[in-house]
Amino acid sequence: MKLMSFEWNGIVKYGVVHEKGDRVWDVLALAEANDQDLPRSIAEGIQESGNFYATLGKLVQWGAENRKEEYMIPLEDVKWLAPIPRPSKNIMCVGKNYRDHAIEMGSEADIPKQMIVFTKAPTTVIGHQETIEAHAKLTNELDYEGELAVVIGKRGRNITEAEALDYVFGYTIVNDVTARDLQERHKQYFLGKSLDSFCPMGPWIVHHSEIKNPNTLGIQTRVNGEIRQDSNTEHFIFPLEEIISTLSQGMTLEPGDIIATGTPSGVGKGFKPPRFLNSGDEIEVYVEGVGKLNNSVN
Ligand code: MG
Repeated sequence: MKLMSFEWNGIVKYGVVHEKGDRVWDVLALAEANDQDLPRSIAEGIQESGNFYATLGKLVQWGAENRKEEYMIPLEDVKWLAPIPRPSKNIMCVGKNYRDHAIEMGSEADIPKQMIVFTKAPTTVIGHQETIEAHAKLTNELDYEGELAVVIGKRGRNITEAEALDYVFGYTIVNDVTARDLQERHKQYFLGKSLDSFCPMGPWIVHHSEIKNPNTLGIQTRVNGEIRQDSNTEHFIFPLEEIISTLSQGMTLEPGDIIATGTPSGVGKGFKPPRFLNSGDEIEVYVEGVGKLNNSVN
């Protein structure tokens, strides 16, 4: 199932996308009709209960079997929010995790031998169809990075690679928007990666049971319809198991933590001359089996 957060009639809700893809089950309403308590957000559900996903499945099944159309909301009537609109800590990100991207950012010497890790502030997060701020007074080098992101489902430390995928709740898509000039000027990546609206996320979380192998997913980014990035997560330098294991050595990963897995070649800075983003540009990031994340620059 695909879990999404949204606003409808001014109320923040979450739900399960109907299999036809045009409506969303209002799971809070389904729960109320069944005299059940449900966590108030996807993040709470992941954090509080190991049965969260199964509970949602039963509610949706009840709704479908009993034809409870009144508990479905057309997607055209909702304002999309990121599935976890305000993560409780920074989004963890892997840098230069595709060989070709490492080379386009410099040279063969930039291919990392050890994982590069940085974070983005929680205030960067916006949802599907929300607007990326150009921050024109701060940057002339606004860039995109389409990425597969993973949502942690279980608390753990010193996780081995063999058990790493057991700690995954599901997958989503992140655009690791970057101000390249700030990224370089301030040495650490943090500021250039953390301006408000620099982490479009969504459109939803796909449960891990629907992704057989996260290390073999096609990934594409289009700007104004033109394909700029076109790769596959099979080209990860550090596969997902190694990412989770490495991050968890001595540092506890918690349910609801979000990890962006890095971007392939084809970012704006990789072109000669560079092709940075401008006001009005429309960016679409596609990840096979997950979906499409669309945002435009204001
Ligand atoms: Mg990135």
